[in-house]
Amino acid sequence: MANKRVLITGAAGFLGSHLCDRFLAEGYDVVGMDNLITGDLKNIEHLFKVKEFEFYHNDVSKFIHVPGDIDYILHFASPASPIDYLKIPIQTLKVGSLGIHNCLGLARVKNARVLIASTSEIYGDPMVHPQTEEYWGNVNPVGPRGVYDEAKRFQEAMTMAYHTFHGLETRIVRIFNTYGPRMRLNDGRVLPAFIGQALRGEDLTMFGDGSQTRSFCYVSDLVEGIYRLLLSDYAQPVNIGNPDEISIREFGEEIIKLTGTNQKLVSKPLPTDDPKQRKPDISKAKAILGWEPKVSREEGLRITYDYFKSLSPEELKKTAHRFD
Ligand code: UDP
Repeated sequence: MANKRVLITGAAGFLGSHLCDRFLAEGYDVVGMDNLITGDLKNIEHLFKVKEFEFYHNDVSKFIHVPGDIDYILHFASPASPIDYLKIPIQTLKVGSLGIHNCLGLARVKNARVLIASTSEIYGDPMVHPQTEEYWGNVNPVGPRGVYDEAKRFQEAMTMAYHTFHGLETRIVRIFNTYGPRMRLNDGRVLPAFIGQALRGEDLTMFGDGSQTRSFCYVSDLVEGIYRLLLSDYAQPVNIGNPDEISIREFGEEIIKLTGTNQKLVSKPLPTDDPKQRKPDISKAKAILGWEPKVSREEGLRITYDYFKSLSPEELKKTAHRFD
């Protein structure tokens, strides 16, 4: 019997590339697609010698054509860090709207199941803590994060409409902050920012007083949750993330300890609409998928630090700050 075939958009990105690895390991044929605006071929260059892997350098926001059968489509193409969607707001809106429309259309033709990457950002600056899937969010549509948050909210609505109106098989994962190897050092996110600064001997830029919280999930745990959700029969959104919540100040202190740097935390202005708290309620993922995270922050950070340390000196120079 032929292998099942999965199309992964955003395949050269941080999450997309880990998903390619996982599906290949599970015996699928994988078609990767990426326009390489924020993705990087080096994340998947080890796959070009694998015969079950194909790559299309293509923009999913434009018309997509993939010959042959497709069983599953995973829509992971999107800029995903605040610094990226501030730089490319229109593409961010397009990939969440035109991009998902193309994926859903392709899925209908191929009779494929679609899983979309949604995000905790759809909860905005949440008034409910921890965030349950039933919470509708507190999003500023015209703020700097609006282009991402609203694109992802639209994406969920569009996916649901194809599910209810066309009877398409769909899955929605709401991804909370995730980290691990292949994150871009200059994507402006707190973890690569802090580790990059520590490695370059710079002070760590803590935004505001660092009392805002996040909950960080290691990438292999996230991929496991997504894999289980795809194969489940549950079409409503599911939070996947690690509920181990920490303030950004404490997180900075952990990175200082981990990297052994002599640098200190310095406070920088808090970006507009920066959510004050974020922590997933994962009761649904536990009950429906039998999933919960396994990798502690200590272990995950150690692996991620080793990855960043292994980068070339040129790579390590790459940096990006929202307050520049
Ligand atoms: N942050 C920080 N210093 C940095 C980058 C980010 O203190 O150099 C803070 C940011 O203000 C936010 C948190 O870290 O409160 C997480 O930011 P990130 O961009 O990683 O993701 P977000 O969850 O905000 O999308």
